[in-house]
Amino acid sequence: MKDKITKRADDYSRWYTDVIVQSKLADYSPVKGCMVIRPNGFALWEKMQAQMDRMFKDTGHVNAYFPVFIPESFMQKEAEHVEGFSPECAVVTHAGGKDLEESLMVRPTSETIINSMYSKWINSYRDLPVLINQWCNVVRWEMRTRLFLRTTEFLWQEGHTAHATYEEAEDETIRMLGVYADFAEKYMAIPVLRGIKSEAEKFAGALHTYCIEAMMGDKKSLQSGTSHNLGQNFAKAFNTKYQTKDGNQEYVWQTSWGVSTRLIGAIIMVHGDDQGLIMPPKLAPNQIVMVPIWRDDEAKDKVLTPASKITEELKKDFSVKFDDRDQYSPGWKFNEWEMLGVPIRIEIGPKDVENESVVMVRRDSREKIKVKWEDVPSTAGKLLDEIHNNLFDRALNFRKDNTFTIDDYADFKDRIENEGGFYSAHWCGSGECEEKVKNETMATIRLIPMNQEREEGMCLYCGNASKERVIFAKAY
Ligand SMILES: [Zn+2]
Repeated sequence: MKDKITKRADDYSRWYTDVIVQSKLADYSPVKGCMVIRPNGFALWEKMQAQMDRMFKDTGHVNAYFPVFIPESFMQKEAEHVEGFSPECAVVTHAGGKDLEESLMVRPTSETIINSMYSKWINSYRDLPVLINQWCNVVRWEMRTRLFLRTTEFLWQEGHTAHATYEEAEDETIRMLGVYADFAEKYMAIPVLRGIKSEAEKFAGALHTYCIEAMMGDKKSLQSGTSHNLGQNFAKAFNTKYQTKDGNQEYVWQTSWGVSTRLIGAIIMVHGDDQGLIMPPKLAPNQIVMVPIWRDDEAKDKVLTPASKITEELKKDFSVKFDDRDQYSPGWKFNEWEMLGVPIRIEIGPKDVENESVVMVRRDSREKIKVKWEDVPSTAGKLLDEIHNNLFDRALNFRKDNTFTIDDYADFKDRIENEGGFYSAHWCGSGECEEKVKNETMATIRLIPMNQEREEGMCLYCGNASKERVIFAKAY
């Protein structure tokens, strides 16, 4: 089974696809560009979703659901938005056996339909803030797709909030970026950069967009979450007004923010190795797998009782899989659970039973540890924490080792092509320079880091004055 996964060093992109297909996270669907998320992948998404949902609710948000169809005229109302999204929209023109009077867009994102409702629901300053999130699917007609990273239909959440002032909306935008960064670092064990997008890379219709970006195992960047301050752009398009305390009519200030199933792609690429997945302990569908080992029925009787007893004990605090399948050998099972990335494997054979111990094997380091039965639960908790920290540190060190400060364009061009990585470089702020760099190197400005020291310099491309450095990288 191991042989089926291409080595990362040989072909990273094939490795990625092999891991997904072999570990049964997802499969290609009969509809080009769409993806079937299989139970192994969906179990991971459910855990991610449950954790994020808690974090959204802890910050005062509630869930609702809006329709998948949006009247085409809605999309036309915000000029930048329609320009940004129209090319990738799927449109329903025919339904119920006849042509529709007005075509319907299959939602690529829900700002427009949500605003049409907010304009009904919001009347007074007393109605604010509105803090709604929805978990749903969206459709963007992508030409080139990759499992989890870019698919025509994908699952995500989109938060849509309305506030009385610009400042409140800005606070919310930054708060939710913080929630995303916390989720990435504390749960996915993935270090992220936080920053603001350039004008060219921001969300179509926003005043500005904040984002988190993470370095993947091939040194490319993955945009892992975005939080937009929409200003009053959609409020004006949809006439979403409220009466202030003084009795004036004002447009609301809004935000929207989202993360999607592409985060699963990040988990695969940041932590995975040539054996397959490595699940971050806090999101792993199975944190521990218990594999009893026997050769004959006598040994089987001997190991199964303590193995299941320990499993029951562990289940009080962890998600545990008890693998007593008869039709597979222990070696086969070890390979399979390794490929699926289960953080801890526990082996127990007849010899271990005599010593009242088990062998615990870490997926990240493959270290084997002999543990007495009574110490198994406490050791498991400790090991899961250690694995989380190790995965995070490993990813952080990798990013540090592959992030460079650069001032010479020719040097940059050569290195982004041959070495890859993140490049901290001066940029004058012109969209023209940004586009030329993109066309010549395929690298884009991933973000302008937040809270960084200002530093005068010269634009990497044109040599004009620059006030601060930005991060250039190739991205998914
Ligand atoms: Zn420039």
